[in-house]
Amino acid sequence: MTYVLSVRDRQIQDAARNFVDDELIPLEVEAEMNGGVIDPEVRRRQVAAVRSLGLHAMNMPVELGGAGLSTLQQVLVSEQTGRVTNALGWVFDAPASWLPKVASDHQMETWVLPTIEGNRHECYAITEENAGSNVDDIESTATRSGDHYVLDGIKWHVTSANLADHAFFQAKLSGGRNAGEHALFVVDLDTPGVRVVRTPAYTHNYAAHHPIIAFEKVRVPVANLIGEEGDGMKFTYEWFRYERLMIAARCCGAAERLIDEAGAFARARTSGGKPIADNQAIAFMLADSVTELWAARLMTHTLAHDVDRGVDVKTQHARCSMAKLFASEMANRVADRAVQIFGGRGYMRENVAERFFRELRVDRIWEGTSEIQRIIIADQLNKRGVGPLTG
Ligand SMILES: Cc1cc2nc3c(=O)[nH]c(=O)nc-3n(C[C@H](O)[C@H](O)[C@H](O)COP(=O)(O)OP(=O)(O)OC[C@H]3O[C@@H](n4cnc5c(N)ncnc54)[C@H](O)[C@@H]3O)c2cc1C
Repeated sequence: MTYVLSVRDRQIQDAARNFVDDELIPLEVEAEMNGGVIDPEVRRRQVAAVRSLGLHAMNMPVELGGAGLSTLQQVLVSEQTGRVTNALGWVFDAPASWLPKVASDHQMETWVLPTIEGNRHECYAITEENAGSNVDDIESTATRSGDHYVLDGIKWHVTSANLADHAFFQAKLSGGRNAGEHALFVVDLDTPGVRVVRTPAYTHNYAAHHPIIAFEKVRVPVANLIGEEGDGMKFTYEWFRYERLMIAARCCGAAERLIDEAGAFARARTSGGKPIADNQAIAFMLADSVTELWAARLMTHTLAHDVDRGVDVKTQHARCSMAKLFASEMANRVADRAVQIFGGRGYMRENVAERFFRELRVDRIWEGTSEIQRIIIADQLNKRGVGPLTG
């Protein structure tokens, strides 16, 4: 159960931390005030720098052009990116982890390898107006028509669609021997029939928007089907596991930054002639925060280490939910306390606590809400007992 970080792990962690400290954090307020947008030339330089550090496409194997990091190393990097707003931290990319295993040669050449090279960008179109937590409620359809499929459906919250050139579109098969089963397609966003319905405003300010996208009689070649008919949910679950673990890591990073910043403020800010940190009311908020961060980090690192050691997939599934649930709820509590410690400054948009207070809220919602994580954990607990879940 115990392990130490290797020299290489530490180097990766340090490289990511230094990059976040030197290149990203100084631009946070500018990004916040400009809808998450920074000077495009600066952004290009950041993308190039992440590549030169060997931290691009961090979940992809080296032989495909990725960074080939272990799961634990990816967690170490994600913790560092979590210390800054996602508006900037998403410069570290991680394409669909499950894709190379199932993509055809055509799909590898057309979408996967160019994405790893940084020349193409994807988005995920799964959620719908009437289907969120229960993906099986989706109403989008895929109908086979000769050597094409015809796709229909309206997808919500399609993160980064405005920056992407292709989408992974999940639908239920209509007709044929697999009718009613899920299938996943890759769809170029310039295909006729794809249109933006509207781009709602969200709580955070990111250049990556979350538009509602309609797919109306969109014809895609059979070669755009990923895997087999009926495989759709399998890929979605694998993606959920990966993203839940990385959300847990980012939440740990966010909490660390907040404790650092709120702690520094509490030691410097005086009230009635003494630092506010000398009041137990403030000190205890920091003490609770760092204690909870440690617990979340232990969970997250241990899980990542176990994934690298090949722990069975059902156990992984439950533990990814546990880590995401605990770390996201923890980070939200820490952000709330940090706002309180900063007082009026904590309510100003230029303040790190105010920003994280808003931004972290979605970590309890996306990639499965906290309620859904609890359902998964309870189900696995009933089936498997305490031992496999807690190691
Ligand atoms: C900023 C943002 C970005 C997103 N990006 C994407 C994206 O790129 N691609 C994509 O496909 N989706 C995306 N999503 C969608 C996201 O995954 C869903 O919002 C999430 O899964 C919850 O679904 P829902 O919003 O429909 O809520 P609902 O499923 O309607 O849930 C509403 C409430 O009911 C609760 N609830 C639902 N079912 C149960 C149950 N069985 N038991 C107890 N409580 C329950 C939920 O926990 C929640 O509190 C994004 C969402 C946001 C906010």
